Formats: sequence, structure tokens, C-alpha cells
Amino acid sequence: MTEVTRENYYSPDLQWEYMGSTQFKEFQECEAAALAHLKGEYKPPTTTALLVGGYIDAHFAGEMDEYRREHPEIFKRDGTLKADYAHADKIIARMESDRLYSLLMSGKKQVICVGMINGVWFKIRIDSLLDGDICQTIVNEFPEAAEALGMCDGAIVDQKAMKDFAPVWSEEEHRKVNFVEAWGYDIQGAIYQEVEGNMLPFILAPGTKEDSPDLNALYIPDDDLAAKLAEVEDKAPRYHAIKQGRIAPIPCGKCAYCRATKKLTGIIDYKSLE
Ligand SMILES: [Zn+2]
Repeated sequence: MTEVTRENYYSPDLQWEYMGSTQFKEFQECEAAALAHLKGEYKPPTTTALLVGGYIDAHFAGEMDEYRREHPEIFKRDGTLKADYAHADKIIARMESDRLYSLLMSGKKQVICVGMINGVWFKIRIDSLLDGDICQTIVNEFPEAAEALGMCDGAIVDQKAMKDFAPVWSEEEHRKVNFVEAWGYDIQGAIYQEVEGNMLPFILAPGTKEDSPDLNALYIPDDDLAAKLAEVEDKAPRYHAIKQGRIAPIPCGKCAYCRATKKLTGIIDYKSLE
């Protein structure tokens, strides 16, 4: 296995060798699209929303210089930041003005770990890894954080930027679900906790892109993480086999990739359409 570093973390070769939480979620959504993405035959659209998320991520990782160099598209012709990124600076300032939020983001940055889940190698990149001392400081200053950090000797913190904290419509469940479930942050938490290996609490530090940005500090209870880990253990070997070419991927039939590659094979009764 190749050693995973900050430099090669997102390289195509490493995506073949290791599964990550984003890749796992891609396979869950559509096996065919996930495999085509790996092969470079399909590129999921890069949205401004994703770039803004990456911009905020880079700030907290201390990698802003590299980010600006690699993404010239964030600047206007006169060299100033485009509106979305100028607003991202406002979100960052809001996050850093909050004492608890800042403490959560004060751990070891961009910590890379690898580990096996049910025979499949995973890689993770922790935004902020807190040690027991910081957790203690946080609980002393913020007694209401004791439920999440009370008895622990560390914590995994993941920073997120999102539109808002409203529930999100789920096609699968035909109802609105909490954004943590909708974006699979619980799946991510399960993978991070397992791969990091010390059963540390998984904390989300999300902020919103609203005109007046909102903040939160959330934990995902261990029971929920355990349920999601079982799901990962169940599915990861299949996705790994698809990557190795031992099993054919099943197309979801609905996503952008499936629509783009669909071939008509006959004429069907219109009533058989859902
Ligand atoms: Zn699909």
C-alpha cells in the first residue's frame, strides 16, 4: 500500500487503493457513476458551493496560499475576490469570532490516518484532532459540552460549510431529514471514528453561507455511529470488488451520469414509468 500524505491524498492512484468517506457515499448513490468517476470517464460537476467549502477548509488547514494559487477562478479580473469568496471570508470571520468554535478548530490540523474496515483499506483526513487537554479546557469553560466531551481523551472535529441548517428532502425516504443524515455526515463520522481507532467522539462544526452566517457545534451519538459503521462494513467489500473489476456496478438509473449514458433499447408502456 502507498503511504498517504497531504500531497497525494486526492491523487487518482490513491483513490483506487483506498476508499474514503466521500467515495463510499458516491458508491452508495450510484455505483456506476462512482466507478466512472474513478476511471476519469465522468467528472461530477464542480459547483461554486464546493469551491467555497474548499476555500474555508483551506483557511482552517493553513493552506490558503496553495489554494489561491491552484484556484485562479476565485478572483475577478482586477485581482480581488469574487463575491462568493469575499462572503466566505465573512463566514470564516464569524466562525473565528466564536470562542467555542475556535477551540474546536484549535486541534492538530489535517491529520491523515489509514485503517481497515471489514477487509477494505480506508483513508481519512481529520480537520481538527483535539487532545484530552483541549477537551478538558472546553468542558471547563462550556459545561454544556460535557455530554459530548466529558470523559474523553480527545475528539475528532470536522468543519463544514453549507447553505443552511434546514432539513433536506430525501428521495429515498420520501420525507425531509436532518441535514447530518441527508449529507451522510453520520457515515463519515462512523468511518472517521473507526479508522482513527480510539473511539473518540465525532464533532461537527458547521457554519452556513447565509447573509448572516449561522454556527453550530454538534455531536453524533456513538449508537448512531455504530449503526452507520455496520452499514459501511456491510457495503464496503462490494464497492471494493467493483473497484477491482470483480463485480459489475449497478447503475441507479436516475443520476446525471446514468441519464447521460442511457441507451434506449425498446418501446415501453408509458404506465410502467414511475
Ligand atoms: Zn446513476
